[in-house]
Formats: sequence, C-alpha cells, structure tokens
Amino acid sequence: MNTHVTILEIDGKALVHNLDYFKEKLQTTTKILAVVKAFGYGSDGAQVAKFLEHKVDYFAVAYTHEGVALREAGVQTPILVLHPHLQNLEVIIDFKLEPGLYNFKIFNAFLKVAKEKGSAQYPIHLKFNTGLNRLGFSATEIPTILTQLHASTAVKVQSLFSHLAASEDLEEKAFTTGQIEQFTAIKEELFAGLKYTPMLHLLNTSGVVNYPKAQFDMVRIGIGLYGFGNDAKETVHLKNTHNLKSIISQIHTIAAGETVGYNRAFAAKATTKTATIPIGHADGLSRRLGNTKGFVRINQQNAPIIGNVCMDMIMVDVTHIDCSEGDEVIVFNTQEMIQHIATTSGTIVYETLTAISPRVHKTLTP
Ligand SMILES: *Cc1c(COP(=O)(O)O)cnc(C)c1O
Repeated sequence: MNTHVTILEIDGKALVHNLDYFKEKLQTTTKILAVVKAFGYGSDGAQVAKFLEHKVDYFAVAYTHEGVALREAGVQTPILVLHPHLQNLEVIIDFKLEPGLYNFKIFNAFLKVAKEKGSAQYPIHLKFNTGLNRLGFSATEIPTILTQLHASTAVKVQSLFSHLAASEDLEEKAFTTGQIEQFTAIKEELFAGLKYTPMLHLLNTSGVVNYPKAQFDMVRIGIGLYGFGNDAKETVHLKNTHNLKSIISQIHTIAAGETVGYNRAFAAKATTKTATIPIGHADGLSRRLGNTKGFVRINQQNAPIIGNVCMDMIMVDVTHIDCSEGDEVIVFNTQEMIQHIATTSGTIVYETLTAISPRVHKTLTP
C-alpha cells in the first residue's frame, strides 16, 4: 500500500468535463478512445479507465503490460495496444487486448499466434505510416497485407489508423492535410480488398481541435482529457485533472550566512524561515525548478524552492508565510502552474505530467 504523503489527486469531475468538451466538437456517432498510456499521463491509468469505462468506446495504452494492468483492475472495455512486441503476443490474447500491428514481422507473428491459440476473427488494428515515420505499414504493403488477411480466419481487422505528426501546429497545415489525404487513399485501397468495413481513426487531441472533418469513426484523446488543448484558447475550456499536494515535514529558521541543501546552493542573506517538503526529483519534480525557478503554494502564497531539488525533498522559503509543520502544500492544482513548471523545466506539459512517478500516492475523486 502506498502511504506517501505526497498525493496526486485525480479530479474525476474534471475528466468527465473534458471528455464532454471534446464530445461536443464531434458528431454524435463518432466513437471516443481515451488514451491512458503512461499511467494515464502520470496519474493512474487503471483508476482513470475504471472511472471512464462506461463513457468511452475504447482505451489505448502504448505497451502490453499497461493493458494487462487495466484488465487486472477489471476494465472490460476494448483496449488497443499501440506498440506491441513479438514477446507479448500471447499475453495480448490471454488478456483480450487488441494489438496495433505496424510491420510484417509483428503482423505475421500475430496471425500465427492467433491461429495456434484457436482464435477466430480476433480483432486487430492496422497502423499506417503517413509521415510521422515512427510506426506503421506503408501504402505499398497493402497488397501483401490483403493476401495474408485472405489466407487467415484467425483475425479480423477492427480498425485502420494513422497518427498525425503536427496536428497542433497550424503552420504545418499543408503537411497534415497531406497525411489526411494519404490516410484516405490507404483506406480506399484496403476497403476495396476486404469484404467488411473496419473502423478508421486518425485524430489525437489537437487533431480534433484543428481538423475535425477528419474525425472518421473514432478519435483518440489523450492530453485533452487531462486538461490541455495544446493551445491556450482550448485549455481555458478544459479543467485541470492533476492536483499534486504534499505537506510541510519540518520548518527551520536559519541565520544570515547559513546555507540550505546540497552543495550549499542557497545562502541566506538574512534570517530565513525554510520548510522541507517530501517531494523531490524522484517524484517527478525537475531539478531545473531549484534555485528559486519553481515554487509551491502554502496557505495561498508562493513559496520559492531554494537550493537544489533533492531526490526525495525540496526546501522552500516561507519567511513571509504564516505556516506550521503538517500544513498542506500545493505543488500544482491549475493548468497555469503545470504549464509554468513545464516551461521552467524546459519541456512540455506531456512530460511534466508523465514524470509524476509511481512513488506518489494516486487517488481519483469521482
Ligand atoms: C499518445 C497518442 C495519442 C494521444 O495524443 P494526445 O496528443 O495526447 O491526444 C493518440 N494516438 C497515438 C498513436 C498516440 O501515441
């Protein structure tokens, strides 16, 4: 049991608000896939999935073991594994996960495993590369894919999908439009060779915002669910889902000339009151936030982080804050605070959220 006093509270009402916000942008028939990879963007994938189970059509995870964790938590909804490997194919079937197949090595191996396990029409998803050049078949491979599919009754293509490279960047509109056109051409060639019609999906969060016409049958929403629209104009409509809180472990009053923390990085110029907080870089708080670049909130006031961020702790300046040992500390509870941490740490909110380590206690409030 995780008894860490540093807690990430996942706001269930905010998750639902954000989900509804994107649903309103879509046609009522468009299905929703909630992306819960990387522990639900640093929260708790199983708790988020259990909570949203009856509100979405699909979940996606990156890796097989992430899907297994959802099944072990009792999630019954279909789960797409975006990036399976040869080593996990049996586990995929054992846990009724649905593989996203991206090359012949994994495609052929999956058809073989599905046949050996006696599967019939096991749902698979075909991933096509349309310019991200990360994972996916190319259009030239379609004839061979069709030949293999016709020779197998073990699998059935549940969906075709691709992924946009720059859906948030309107300067890349021509490139993205090209990806949408390529995906449409791939779909036409594949559909012409199949006796049934798989689902199609292409858009992530920013895709839904900027290219809603390409919503096809389903959209894959990740960061938007967790409160960020990759654009301030979208983010204002979303609610923050990740609230990171801790407490004051100890307060020290130090004299001018004394130092705080490793390498004596902070030297007091005057009498200074410091508070030690049980959260450090091992919990996901970047070392770049040290030396007054980052702050926490204590009793409605900003307390700058002084000295270096330690592995397990930070020290903050509370000279001007009325506070006591045991008081609550807000590391972040708004999108602005998360964005500030991301910018100050030289990264994007995706990394700031997913950096929150499993050591932090995670709890979802419905
Ligand atoms: C992570 C991921 C998503 C979700 O993207 P967001 O920008 O977080 O909405 C969608 N599709 C694929 C293939 C992904 O890897």
